[in-house]
Amino acid sequence: MTRRRCTRPGCLRPHQARGLCNPHYAQANRRGEFATTPRTERGLCTVDGCTRRHDARGYCGRHYVRWRRYGNPTGGRSPLPPRELADLRRLVGIAA
Ligand SMILES: [Zn+2]
Ligand SMILES: [Zn+2]
Repeated sequence: MTRRRCTRPGCLRPHQARGLCNPHYAQANRRGEFATTPRTERGLCTVDGCTRRHDARGYCGRHYVRWRRYGNPTGGRSPLPPRELADLRRLVGIAA
């Protein structure tokens, strides 16, 4: 029976979460090293599944162009004008 330990080099504290001990986990969390960190803070496009770098307005260059053209970063025409859509997203974000 082996107890798991923190994976940070030289750290002998017991494992707490995500391969790290409690203090290291808290530190990594603060630095935004986990996937739950908002994508823009990691410099990535906010579109789900997109791994390109953030360029403008939370989107990569490609998604930003679509967002400007259609008011929707993932493609086709939107029934709502971009500004209303953005407001709607903001509202949903606050409500969630
Ligand atoms: Zn540690
Ligand atoms: Zn993108």
